[in-house]
Amino acid sequence: MKLLEKFQALGQARDQLKNLGVDPFNVVVEKILSPTEAIVNGHRVILAGTNNYLGLTFHPECIAAAEKALREEGCGTTGSRMANGNYADHLALEREFAEFYRKPYSVVFSTGYLANLALLSTLPGADDVILLDADCHASIYDGCKMSPAEVIRFRHNDVDDLAKRLRRLKDRAQRTLVVVEGLYSMLGDTAPLKAIAEIKDEYGACLMVDEAHSLGVLGESGRGLAEAEGVEALVDFTVGTFSKSLGAIGGYCVSPHRELDILRYTARPYIFTASSSPAQIASTRVALRLLRDGGELRRRLWSNAERFHQGLSSLGCQLGPQMSPVIPILLSESREDSLLVWHELLQNGVYVNLVMPPATPDHRCLLRCSMSAAHTPEQIDQLLETCAKVFAAHGLVSH
Ligand code: PMP
Repeated sequence: MKLLEKFQALGQARDQLKNLGVDPFNVVVEKILSPTEAIVNGHRVILAGTNNYLGLTFHPECIAAAEKALREEGCGTTGSRMANGNYADHLALEREFAEFYRKPYSVVFSTGYLANLALLSTLPGADDVILLDADCHASIYDGCKMSPAEVIRFRHNDVDDLAKRLRRLKDRAQRTLVVVEGLYSMLGDTAPLKAIAEIKDEYGACLMVDEAHSLGVLGESGRGLAEAEGVEALVDFTVGTFSKSLGAIGGYCVSPHRELDILRYTARPYIFTASSSPAQIASTRVALRLLRDGGELRRRLWSNAERFHQGLSSLGCQLGPQMSPVIPILLSESREDSLLVWHELLQNGVYVNLVMPPATPDHRCLLRCSMSAAHTPEQIDQLLETCAKVFAAHGLVSH
């Protein structure tokens, strides 16, 4: 087979979508109007699949800070943190993350994806083990590929399976990094973190928690699931992103271990990429303060999630295992049927994410919805009305 021949199947699949006039992986936001509305395919749509949990993307204080940084510090840093791209504001944001989490060490990365690559490629060495929840995000799997460590998966959210595997590792359990997420991005369920943290402690392992979807969403101060479950003292590395509740681009890690700071000298995803732009850092510094003081935003987010979840339940939709701001609507195994449902929602003014196997559990397609504090009750009712109409037309719910 020649080098490029392997892309033929993908190319054909793409042409098929094009011919159908439906391509969920190539949606163009022609104009973004607010955290919850945009023009797509010439229609005004309500956005219900953005991860913009606190709705901060258009917050005037974030925009003002970004504008000021843009004017005073330029569009980009044109260099990595290790070279010329280490501005005082990157360090200030690191101090603010450390204070927010009450941990001594904190590192800011250019994206959350790179934060996971940096930690996983560097922390566990050749004799060590990474023990990860099977439903972990692609960035965690990619980080594992970059690591010389042995990589073992345990069944999603299955504490007994985790304990069994740690037991089998014997002495190597102490050389093991257990990796889980706070709130899982596809099904919107949370890790049984208290039990996981206690087990890792019993075996002397290390625990890394990716709170990408739980930052700003869970916990009294929005620090995530570890805060909500009261186990922050047992977490060794907390990773997260600016690209969801903080409304920008970037990633971070906080830790009680000094080794996190030393990782700056060895982690290639930290060293060999340009640092976040001054505008991103400036808006994130403001967003972090708003998130910390965002009790009211969190209350609105959860009340919106409940309203949407309840409405979909009453329609008879099959939903995920737990109610949270990430709400999956489980469809059939048929990609074609699911594509049509997704497309009809879009044509009727509703944008959600279509997720297909193998990215989903059980070989089923799903519509991944995510709620924002910025949705109004009227928008949620509009979303529900459209879902009712489209799902009934496809026999997914009764009329
Ligand atoms: N971890 C998880 C669990 C995620 O869902 C994501 C983004 N989808 C990331 C990491 C990567 O974050 P970023 O967008 O900052 O690269």
